[in-house]
Amino acid sequence: MLRSGSQRWACVAGWTLLVAMLMGTAVAAVPTADDPAQLLKQADSVRTSDHPEFLQLMKRLGAEAATLSPQQRMHLRYLQAWAVGYQGDYETATPLLNAVIAESTDATLRFRAGTTLVNNLAIGSHYEEAFAQVSQLLDQLPQIVDKDARIQGLGVAAFLYNEAGQYDLGLNYATQMVRENPVGDGNCKGRMIQVQSLYESGKFATFGKQSREAIDACNKASEFLYANAVRFYVASFDIQYGQSSAAIKLLQKNYADVRRIDYGELTSEFDATLARAYWDEGETALAQQYAHAAVDGGVKHEFTKSRTSAYELLYLISKQQGDLDAALTYHEKYTAADKGYLNEVSAKALAYQTVKQQLLAKKLQIDTLNKQNQILSLQQALAKKAAVASRLYIVLLLLVLASIAFWTYKIKRSQLRFMKLARRDGLTGIFNRQHFVNEAELQLQYCRKSSRGACLVLIDLDHFKAVNDTHGHAVGDRVLLRAVEACKTYLRSTDIFGRLGGEEFGILLPECTLEQVLVRAEQIRVAIATASAGEDAPGIPISASFGVSSVAHSGYELRQMLIHADEALYRAKREGRNRVSVVDHSAMSLAS
Ligand code: GH3
Ligand code: MG
Ligand code: MG
Repeated sequence: MLRSGSQRWACVAGWTLLVAMLMGTAVAAVPTADDPAQLLKQADSVRTSDHPEFLQLMKRLGAEAATLSPQQRMHLRYLQAWAVGYQGDYETATPLLNAVIAESTDATLRFRAGTTLVNNLAIGSHYEEAFAQVSQLLDQLPQIVDKDARIQGLGVAAFLYNEAGQYDLGLNYATQMVRENPVGDGNCKGRMIQVQSLYESGKFATFGKQSREAIDACNKASEFLYANAVRFYVASFDIQYGQSSAAIKLLQKNYADVRRIDYGELTSEFDATLARAYWDEGETALAQQYAHAAVDGGVKHEFTKSRTSAYELLYLISKQQGDLDAALTYHEKYTAADKGYLNEVSAKALAYQTVKQQLLAKKLQIDTLNKQNQILSLQQALAKKAAVASRLYIVLLLLVLASIAFWTYKIKRSQLRFMKLARRDGLTGIFNRQHFVNEAELQLQYCRKSSRGACLVLIDLDHFKAVNDTHGHAVGDRVLLRAVEACKTYLRSTDIFGRLGGEEFGILLPECTLEQVLVRAEQIRVAIATASAGEDAPGIPISASFGVSSVAHSGYELRQMLIHADEALYRAKREGRNRVSVVDHSAMSLAS
């Protein structure tokens, strides 16, 4: 049965356990050595288990400070700061610890200094700073590998969150401690805080099992203080459920042990809980005795649940006994303690919420900054993409331009080819009639301008029809080609040579006199007659007749020169073929 009004009494654990948590583990002292590193290690290990020895070692280390390495000096500074806090001078210890946190290059040492600082801040009621520091420690935790440092960090976080009424968070970090430490003090401390979280949050379903396991683990680890802290929660639970006699039995069985450990605040909690249980059982004298013990023990001038609870009992007992003066005095003390305690509780909860809001605001600010950064990098990416796109665009453009140039070149070339084809005779490759006429006219204009001579020769193959008729067209074509080759042998590069039709050719020879042209025509005539002889068209002699005209007699008009040359050619044919003729009456006729 849950007794109304008594729940608030039930738990009296407070910061005291946190202090104990940070005292570290009692480690067997290692033999004294002269090596400063050994001395430091030894001082660290006997801090709480043999405090006088610790102070001795610190004195020695202080004297040898000059011989220490920078890292060892920093370690010494941490231990000095810790010692100041251990003596209760938290205000002095805080800046010393902050200096170690700021200056040390050793992450583990910084972390240890941080956990000590949280302890000092919390005891000094600087809850906001304590919560802020804890959240920093939790941020550093993933980088910390030292087992003891992790136990301390997680323990401090779990305790603080429980103190702020954040039992789920407390349970979470306590469970992490248990998981990371299957045995030993980490396992014991983790289990003890788990029990605290479960008890405070009223999650009693697994409470019995968890508390038994926690006591076992702590006994195994020789952490009797923690085993008894768990018993205190079990007793408080029993009282809540009307099992005060069971609570008395459990607490009394371990009372001597708790007294022996002599950890003031736990003793005070045992006393206050026993007083409560005896009061419930109607054992007023015993209730009064333990209530007095609770008030006298524990940390002086501090508002704890145990002190508040004890004062209320003393008030109720005095009232019952009719001692109204005493009742009034205890009531005043009770209300002051209760108010002070509740103030502490709400200060912790408020500090937690404040820090949480500050962290949220900071996170929001960081998120906003991150978003801004994202936008910036997106913009940069976009700009980059745009640059890539425009580069691609340029490449594409260049490709288009290149293909246009290529096709323009191809078209031009084929145009040139067509133009050439249009100017040439398909069979022989020499100028066709039209082009011959154009070129010859142009040439004659030059000659006229420079008053130079020029001659025209017309050539017509003799009886060519007979070649075709006798041997076929193909043979006729070959004869035509051979005749062209024979002509070319005697032509200069400046001479204009064209096929005027069928088996008729024309040659315009600039800078040439009639005498010279007659000699050249004669050479060609002989060449045609000999080159073709009998080879392509056996049985038919191949020859050509030549008609010659010159600007000296015909003028620079091509038309007139053609007429005169044609007349001469006609004459050559008439006079027996295979000869060169000029139209002029005075001209000679050369026959072979
Ligand atoms: P003539 O001595 O009087 O000039 O006699 P000819 O047979 O040469 O005279 P004509 O002008 O009557 O005959 C020309 C022949 O040339 C007619 C034609 O069959 C032939 N001919 C014209 N062009 C070509 C050609 O490209 N190839 C071939 N194989 N024969 C052609
Ligand atoms: Mg002809
Ligand atoms: Mg002919």
